[in-house]
Amino acid sequence: MSYCASRFHTVRRPTVEVAVGAVGVGGTNPIRLQSMTTSDTQDVAATVRQSIALAEVGCEIVRITAPNVAAAKCLGEIRAQFTAAGFGHIPLVADIHFLPSAAMEAVEHVEKVRVNPGNYADKKKFAVREYSDADYETELQRLHEAFSPLVKRSKELGRAMRIGTNHGSLSDRLMNRYGDTPLGMVESALEFIRIAESHSYRQLILSMKSSNPKVMIQAYRLLVQRMAQAGMHYPLHLGVTEAGDGEDGRIKSAIGIGSLLLDGLGDTIRVSLTEDSVYEIPVARAIAEKAMSRWGGDIASLAAENSTDGIDPYHFTKRETATLHLGPGITVGPEQPPRVIVRAGEDVAATLAQLGAGKLKDTPPEILLLAAPSAARLANLPNPGASSYALELATSIGLAELKGLAIHLPPGTILVRDFAGHEAPELAAFAQFAHEHQFALAAAIDPDALPALGPTIQQLDHERLLFTLGGFSARSFGFGGHAVGRYRRLAEGLRAIGSRAPIWIRNTADTAMRGDNTFLSKLLEASFLSGALLCDGIGDLVSIETELDPVRATRLTYNVLQGAGARISKTEFVACPSCGRTLFDLQATTQRIRSQTGHLKGVKLAIMGCIVNGPGEMADADFGYVGGAPGKINLYVGKNCVQYNIPQEAADAKLIALIKEHGKWFDPEPAHA
Ligand code: SF4
Repeated sequence: MSYCASRFHTVRRPTVEVAVGAVGVGGTNPIRLQSMTTSDTQDVAATVRQSIALAEVGCEIVRITAPNVAAAKCLGEIRAQFTAAGFGHIPLVADIHFLPSAAMEAVEHVEKVRVNPGNYADKKKFAVREYSDADYETELQRLHEAFSPLVKRSKELGRAMRIGTNHGSLSDRLMNRYGDTPLGMVESALEFIRIAESHSYRQLILSMKSSNPKVMIQAYRLLVQRMAQAGMHYPLHLGVTEAGDGEDGRIKSAIGIGSLLLDGLGDTIRVSLTEDSVYEIPVARAIAEKAMSRWGGDIASLAAENSTDGIDPYHFTKRETATLHLGPGITVGPEQPPRVIVRAGEDVAATLAQLGAGKLKDTPPEILLLAAPSAARLANLPNPGASSYALELATSIGLAELKGLAIHLPPGTILVRDFAGHEAPELAAFAQFAHEHQFALAAAIDPDALPALGPTIQQLDHERLLFTLGGFSARSFGFGGHAVGRYRRLAEGLRAIGSRAPIWIRNTADTAMRGDNTFLSKLLEASFLSGALLCDGIGDLVSIETELDPVRATRLTYNVLQGAGARISKTEFVACPSCGRTLFDLQATTQRIRSQTGHLKGVKLAIMGCIVNGPGEMADADFGYVGGAPGKINLYVGKNCVQYNIPQEAADAKLIALIKEHGKWFDPEPAHA
């Protein structure tokens, strides 16, 4: 049983509607936007102010942390004042970790309670031990007793509940049996669903969050597949946890949330940024609108076509590809990171100068893409330096014209040309030409043309051939169609004819779903398309051609590659969005630590406001900076806390000393003049 109706079209997953106060989630409701307050919940005035600010920017569901019973009690007054301010229609959600007593208080006051199955009543000490089936059963029984009171009370009061699993906070019992894996996350949630259903309580929404989009995507897919097998159709709350701030936070969120929404999964979303929460809503809205623009595909209209591909959607496998040498230091292939292609402006020399001055040492533009409406455009091209050229040939340019120019083009140049299904002879001729001149041919084809072109492709030299999407106009995706589906179909079609030719993911105006010409829209489109494909192991070259500033386009491409975990070009920050539990100014601290450590390419640093998800998320990071007590910081190496209660003013220096101690420090490049 697959996790979605189609891997090529968006077919919304049918779900039951869950009423969160006056707001319906799932069913035929639109994707609901939510966020969270960061104020101290016991500061009722501040929390009401933040809730109103969120509601005013379009937040439909507001979450508030309840770290203890005292805070949970405050939810009553917060609800009353929020309603009095005219926001009775906006439901409040209590965020609960570790304390069933806080949950039992909170449920009296708010429309929904979020529990974390990993720490609601289960132990989390990172104790490595074998659980016999009897031990396991005993723990499950204890969990049933601890969780049932909240289930029963929620049912009595007509409250909804989110079973919100986090990759970083699975219990010891699940970690020991399944490891810190999507399967462990799914089992953790299913245990809580079964307890709820044992009391005939089904007002449930599920989430499977991780700071790693790949893990998050696999966990949601697996959960849906397992729920489908069990006849469960609960709505999903999507989010990438600790996504961070700025471009990176938006990219990681869009990769994870976007990829799932395109497969029809997801009914409410939260973009968790290490910024003021009000900035989360415009990003969430843009993501939701792009995804909902694909809605309309229905199972019936797609029944005729094959709806899936040969990829294992629950485990990451990089698509097998041939190796291509595209000039000095630029190789495409199985062991290589995806290569970065940047579109040049009309004036190639000006573009090269911009890129040269662009401080792009760790993020070099490897291939420069030029539009070649005529052969004349290819004469006297400036020396591309360390980059190679990709020349987008108009189909009017014949091989005869190219022959005269070939000697002026450096080896490794990529010739890019559209080929329709009836152009097999042209494809063979251009491939032969490329072979003879040590060029590569990037054939832009419509996947539906593969059956016609297949026999020719099978004869071609794959050491000089790559493919990208072609043969389409912006509106040819059809109902529910999208470029991710077309590229998946291209990869599947190539697999079917035994071709391991690399695939170039081109983010262009033609692959865009909807939106405006803002940088945010371009960033989200590229994250949806390239991120979703790279997280499934598809994509060997990437270009973002909607951003015309070559320096910005280059940086954005590297940031999307890093967000998808496909190519690391700078320090990776896992930073929580903060909430009422946060023990220091997270935004300022993240900025400050980034300014000192942002040059440590390949190092993963986690900055967490408190220990809730802290240690677990640490498991994936090299070093951690975690709020331990007010004004005190704990430092971690991996998931092990190595220094406790450091006064905050001394913690940055201690962190850098720790990085040096572990041989992961190198001094930043002197600032460019
Ligand atoms: S890790 Fe951050 S967002 Fe999560 S509970 Fe702690 S302070 Fe809040």
